[in-house]
Amino acid sequence: MLPRIDAHAHVFQSSQAFYAMLDRLNVRLVNICVVDKHDRGYEEAAPQHARALEVFKASQGKVAWCSTFDPQDWESPGFAERTIALLDRTFKDGAVAVKIYKSIGMELKSRAGKYLMPDDPVFSPIFDALEARDKTLYAHIAEPSAAWRPLDPASPHYGYYKSNPDWHMFLHPERPSKEAILSARDRMLARHPRLRVIGCHLGSMEENVDEIARRFDLYPNFAVDTAARVPDLMLQPREKVCAFLIKYQDRVLYGTDLELKPWERPEEALKRWEAEFARDWKFFATDEKFQYAGREVLGLALPGNVLQKFYRQNALRWVPGITGAK
Ligand SMILES: [Zn+2]
Repeated sequence: MLPRIDAHAHVFQSSQAFYAMLDRLNVRLVNICVVDKHDRGYEEAAPQHARALEVFKASQGKVAWCSTFDPQDWESPGFAERTIALLDRTFKDGAVAVKIYKSIGMELKSRAGKYLMPDDPVFSPIFDALEARDKTLYAHIAEPSAAWRPLDPASPHYGYYKSNPDWHMFLHPERPSKEAILSARDRMLARHPRLRVIGCHLGSMEENVDEIARRFDLYPNFAVDTAARVPDLMLQPREKVCAFLIKYQDRVLYGTDLELKPWERPEEALKRWEAEFARDWKFFATDEKFQYAGREVLGLALPGNVLQKFYRQNALRWVPGITGAK
């Protein structure tokens, strides 16, 4: 099996069975910490950092890790300096990247009532520090367009918004539009041309690869991961997705968004992980037909050199410091 890197996963339990699976499948991970006040287990950065470090060590570096920070006190004096000091401690502990989250743009409001956006000047010193330390920024900014629409059982994102109404923007019309948030993200990319940025979840441009291509052409410092958005690629015309992945073969990283939560039984989680890796391989690497959500999908059968970049080399290049990947 081609050695693979899943550049976007969430592993907060140290399990020998889990590491054995990674070895068997020849998969390495980037384990992403993220602060989400609405998602159990993700409320605070510090416990995640401690757990990610434990997993990093126990896996002998096969599970690299990406730290994060809680932006909620961004208006308090010294926010940037405090954040940089915190991130520097995580870099000492081996963190290879830093994640920012959709709460920026979709949730956090200033005391004056303005939504905090990813291009807010308060983040500039932090982004400059990442660039100076040669660290990568993972940016989960905005959400699938389904978040701004009524619930639709046919959408791949139906289940998430049904059970996460806090993030279902259709219910919160006072919040910024997706266009406004992505424009702020794009301005941030333009202002930090030497900062490597990975747009999580296809950069929230999940419905049309042309939207991603347009940003790739404008911002050479920008790449995307496929985490939790492979079904969105399955819904687009096959030839178009193939052409996109071949033309931008240096800019797309394989990622799943799979989770191993602290309270989960690893045996069950392992089945889910294996099934998802297998489905994704079928889609990207083979020309097999398979059923997904009641539709017939034909695999993309990407060329071998493109698969090697997508599944591994792009992660090594865009996220320097992944050590367990040999
Ligand atoms: Zn994620």
